[in-house]
Amino acid sequence: MNIVVQKFGGTSVSSVESRNKATNKIIKKYEEGNKIVVVVSAMGRKGDPYATDTLLGLINPKIISNREIDLLISCGEIISAVILANHICERGYEAVVLTGFQAGIITNSNFGNADIIDVNPDRILNYLEENKIVVVAGFQGSNKFGEITTLGRGGSDITAVALGKALNCNYVEIFTDVDGIMTADPNIVPNAKVIKKMCYSEVYQLAEDGAKVIHPRAVEMAQQSNIPLIIKNTYSDSEGTSIEEVNVNFINNRKELFNEKIITAITYKKGRVQFIISLSDDESNVNKLMDEITSNGISLDLINFLVDKKIFTIDENNKDKLISILNKGNFEYKIVENCCKISVIGYKMRGIPGVMARIVKALSKENIKILQTSDSHNTIWCLIKEEDTNKALKALHNEFKLYE
Ligand code: ADP
Ligand code: MG
Repeated sequence: MNIVVQKFGGTSVSSVESRNKATNKIIKKYEEGNKIVVVVSAMGRKGDPYATDTLLGLINPKIISNREIDLLISCGEIISAVILANHICERGYEAVVLTGFQAGIITNSNFGNADIIDVNPDRILNYLEENKIVVVAGFQGSNKFGEITTLGRGGSDITAVALGKALNCNYVEIFTDVDGIMTADPNIVPNAKVIKKMCYSEVYQLAEDGAKVIHPRAVEMAQQSNIPLIIKNTYSDSEGTSIEEVNVNFINNRKELFNEKIITAITYKKGRVQFIISLSDDESNVNKLMDEITSNGISLDLINFLVDKKIFTIDENNKDKLISILNKGNFEYKIVENCCKISVIGYKMRGIPGVMARIVKALSKENIKILQTSDSHNTIWCLIKEEDTNKALKALHNEFKLYE
């Protein structure tokens, strides 16, 4: 069976007009002789009826448990799925709707942020054999006791790839409101450009470092099972971004597309807090601190451990927890709040001289102070103040001529 999974995000199903566009994409693929599984997000954004944030606004998450919250917010995608199926049926095609649970998606019991542990695709396969278009509510599954769970923000991307994997699909198409993955967030950098081809690791880095165009877990899962991913625009016929494994073909293609450019894209993550902890040479102190940080589930980033100083950043949501750990242990520390982590992502950039120098110069020309840096084989990170974010993104985008 030639199975294609198509995922439509919130804005792609928010209005009659956008749902008609989505339906066109679905019917076109179906008419080309493919079996179609559609995955949908909840309709629209905060304020729109039945959007996830609108539903959350109806309750007080401090007094009701995560299990009940999941029951509530899983409804957004179910409503969206039925309404999109209605559009498909109106056009004379047969569609059937399944919740995540009914589609065979089994998760652990981590309500609100569950991981998919198994998918039983039998029910979907039966419908596909009957030539039905199967519309699945994204972002949700159930634990092994039949309790409804949700997968966290952006979770419909994960649903799409998990189903694609279980169904052994040809590829997964992620439809959204931009023409593909771009060299920077187009809302901030107006001359950002669509990237036609990327490899999984670049997209993973981009997603992990804040570009919300696709969920990092979805990219990781696609890479593990070698499922081609294509990011496309519901509202246009642009080719989009195709994500694949690095091979000879990819490298040749890339040379053509990139003119040997070393940098692919730039992204950012706000809400970071830098901690600078001064320490005497008592190592047991550090070990105790690290144990506390680990047992509190605080994840560290941009880690620089020097003999007398330990520097790292954390998400601002963990700030209060870490401060109380440090105070309890009588540590001496400084914090810098409202930081933003800028990521300059490339392909095999380590070993190419001068990249860091260009980043530093481009930022200093704009009077942007760099608080910390780090690097890997495919990324250079700079920590700056949040208020400098837009300026920094534009300056780096220009410096590496990503608009070309
Ligand atoms: P959906 O609801 O379809 O899942 P999202 O809002 O999750 O859509 O993701 C699409 C958005 O991601 C775009 O509208 C864009 O503003 C944002 N975005 C951030 N960085 C990038 C990037 N590098 N390329 C494309 N889009 C990006
Ligand atoms: Mg999304």
